[in-house]
Amino acid sequence: MPGGEVLGRCSYCNVAEDTQSSDRVCAVCRDAVLVCSGCRVVRRGVYLCSDHESLDGPSFDQVLYHPHLEPVRAAVSKCYGR
Ligand SMILES: [Zn+2]
Ligand SMILES: [Zn+2]
Repeated sequence: MPGGEVLGRCSYCNVAEDTQSSDRVCAVCRDAVLVCSGCRVVRRGVYLCSDHESLDGPSFDQVLYHPHLEPVRAAVSKCYGR
C-alpha cells in the first residue's frame, strides 16, 4: 500500500481515515475496522474485517437480523441509540 501519512483507509470506500474508534469493530470477531464517518452511516453500525467481509451482503443482513441474534441486535441498538 503506497503512502504512509495516514494510519489507514476506510475499509469500504478507501478514503484516508485515521480515526480508530472502539465502536468500529467487525460484527463477527470484534476486530477493529477502519470505517469513515460516511460509511459508518451507510453501514448502520455494522462492519466486517477483511477476514469476514466475504460474509457481507443480503445473506449477512439476514443472519444479523435472525431472531436468535436478538441479544446482538439489542447491544448494537444500545450502542447506536436506536
Ligand atoms: Zn468510507
Ligand atoms: Zn472479523
